Amino acid sequence: MPIRQLAPDVAAKIAAGEVVERPASVVKELVENALDAGARHIRVELANGGLGLIRVSDDGCGIPSEELPLAFARHATSKVQALGDFERLATLGFRGEALASIAAVAGVTLLSRPRAATLGAQMAVVEGEAGSLAPAGAPAGTTVTVRDLFASVPGRLKFLKTRGTETGRCVQLVEQYALAFPEVRFTVVSEGRQVFTTPGDGKLASVLVAVYGLAVAEHMVPLDGTDDTAAAQPEPEHAPAAVASASATRPQVSGYVSRPSCYKSTRGYLSFFVNRRWVQSRTLNFAVEEAYHSLLLTGRHPIAVINVALDPAQLDANVHPAKTEVRFLYERQVFAAVQRAVRAAVLATAEAPEVSSRAFAIPDWSSPAVPASGDGGDVPRASAGDASLWGRTPPGTEGQPGEAAGADAPVAGSDAGGFAVPGAADAPVGGRKLPVMRVLGQVSQSYIITEGPDGVYMVDQHAAHERVLLERMIAEWRSRAVSSQLLLQPVPVELAPAERETIEEHLDALAQIGFAIEPFGGDALLVRALPAVLAAQTRPQPLRELLLELAGGDAEAASHGETWEEHALANVACKAAIKAGQTLSPEEQRELIRQLEGASAYQSCCHGRPTMVHLSLSALERQFDRR
Ligand code: ADP
Ligand code: MG
Repeated sequence: MPIRQLAPDVAAKIAAGEVVERPASVVKELVENALDAGARHIRVELANGGLGLIRVSDDGCGIPSEELPLAFARHATSKVQALGDFERLATLGFRGEALASIAAVAGVTLLSRPRAATLGAQMAVVEGEAGSLAPAGAPAGTTVTVRDLFASVPGRLKFLKTRGTETGRCVQLVEQYALAFPEVRFTVVSEGRQVFTTPGDGKLASVLVAVYGLAVAEHMVPLDGTDDTAAAQPEPEHAPAAVASASATRPQVSGYVSRPSCYKSTRGYLSFFVNRRWVQSRTLNFAVEEAYHSLLLTGRHPIAVINVALDPAQLDANVHPAKTEVRFLYERQVFAAVQRAVRAAVLATAEAPEVSSRAFAIPDWSSPAVPASGDGGDVPRASAGDASLWGRTPPGTEGQPGEAAGADAPVAGSDAGGFAVPGAADAPVGGRKLPVMRVLGQVSQSYIITEGPDGVYMVDQHAAHERVLLERMIAEWRSRAVSSQLLLQPVPVELAPAERETIEEHLDALAQIGFAIEPFGGDALLVRALPAVLAAQTRPQPLRELLLELAGGDAEAASHGETWEEHALANVACKAAIKAGQTLSPEEQRELIRQLEGASAYQSCCHGRPTMVHLSLSALERQFDRR
C-alpha cells in the first residue's frame, strides 16, 4: 500500500484510542476537568456501563459560551500556554485533547454557564461533527453528556468487559478521585441508582469510610502530617484548584495506611496521588510494601491512600497517554519520604499484634514475668520489636562478641547439649531462651511438632532454620570470623556489564560475609569461595541471582536501618535454610530444635514470620471441655 494521509475523521478516532480506552477513561477525563474547574460537587451518571450514557455535572467555574467550540478543539486548553508552564503545573489536564478525543468516538453535549453569566450555552459534537452553539438555561457550572460511546468503533467494543465490570471501573475511578479530594462532594448514579457518595467535608477519613467501609476505615492510621481536622479548603477564587500546596522542595507525604492487623490479599488497595493526580507507580507501591517489611506475611498487602505533594518542577506529568504515570526528578527522595512516613505510622500502631487472630499464640518466654507454667498462650506478643531482625537487644546492652556469652546462662533446665549457638551472644541481658522441647515428629514435611513445658509447639522448619543460621552468621560476622567454604571447582558467573559493576562495587562487603570473587574475563566473575552455609549451592544460575540480590540490596537494607552486611546475611540465611517440603530424619528434627533452643530471637524468622505456634495445656483443656 502506498503511504497516504489518513482522512481526518479516521485519524481522530485513532488518536482518541490513546486517551479513551473504555468508559472509565471518559469518566476520568471529565472528572479531572470538573476538578480543574474548582467544582465542589461532582455528579456522575452512568447507563449501560457508561456505553449508553456518561454524564458529569459540576458546579465549577463554567465555560464562557464563546469558548465552547474551542473546548472541543484538539490542543485547545485554558490550562497551559507555554512549555514553561509545566514547571508550575497546577491542573490535572494540560493537553487540551480530552474533549476532542471523546467527541471523536461518541456524541458529546456540553452545557455550561460561568457563575457570572446570566445565561448559559450548549453545543453538541457527534462523532467529530460540530453542531451549532445555542443559548441555554443552566445552573452555574458545566454538564458534559456523552452518549453511545464507541458506537462507531466496534473494534473497541469487543475489548470491553461486561456492563457490570465497566460500571465498576467507572465507580472505582471516582472513588480514587474522591480519596484525593475529600473537600469535594462526589455522587455516582448508575442505572438510576446512587452507588457511591461522599460528604465533601474535607476529611479523608470520611471518604475512607465511603470507599472501604467502616470496618476497614477503623483500621487506618493517618500519616504524620495528615491534618484531617482542617475544615474543607476555602472556596477557590478561580479555577484551577486541583493541586495541594507543594511549595516545599521536599516531598510532603500525607494520607492513611492500614494497621498490620488489617490487610488484603492483593495489591489493589494502594492508591497514590502526586499533587492529587491519581497515578500508578511501581516506586510508590514498593515504598509502601517495604515499609511493612516483616510486619505483614508474604501474600498479604496493606491498604494505603497516599498523596505526595511536591514542587511541580520536580515532576514530569506528561509521560503517559492517560496521564496515569509521572516521572520524578528525585525518585529516591520520594521513595524514601513515602517509605519513612509509612513505616513511622505503622510502627506506631504495632502494639496491635499481627497474630491476634491466630488460633494459637506465639510463645514468648522472654519476659521473666510470665511463669513457664502459666497460660501465657492467651497473650500473643509478636510486636514489631519482637519481629526485629536482630532480636531484642536493647541499644547499649550489646556486648563485644563472645564476651556476653558466659553472662548469658541458659535458663535452668535448659540443656543445650553442646549445641550452643554462637548467636547466644546476642541475647539480651536477663533474656530467656526457648526451653528444652521434646520432638514428637514432622507434619506435612514442613512442621516439627514438639512438646515443651506448657503444651505443644509447632515449629516451621524453614523459618526456624533461617533464624538459627542467621544468628550464627551474625555472631561470626561480628567477630570477623565468617566461615567460608573454598570451592574445589570455582564457579564462573556470566553477567551483563551493569550487573558486573554492581557486584564489583560490593566485592569487599561480599568478602566480609564469606564470598571470594574475582574477575574472570569479559563480564564474567569467578566465585572461589562461599559462605559455608551455602557450600552445597554452587549452581551458577541461582548463585548469579543471589549475588545480584545481595549486591543490589543497599537501598532495602538502609530502609530497614540495617547495614548492608546484616541485610545480606539474612538473605543468605534464607537461601541456605531447610525448605518446607523437605523430609527430616528424627535426628535432624531434634538437631534443628536444639539449635533453635539456643537462638535468642527464636520467635520469628528474619522476615518476621513466626517460627512457631503454641497450643498451651490450658487451651487444650478448654478445647476438650475439661474446664
Ligand atoms: P484540558 O483539560 O487538557 O485543558 P480538555 O479537552 O479536557 O483539555 O478541555 C478543554 C478545555 O475545556 C479546558 O482547558 C477547559 O478550559 C474547558 N473545560 C472542559 N471541561 C470543563 C469543565 N467541566 N468546567 C470548566 N471548563 C471546562
Ligand atoms: Mg481535561
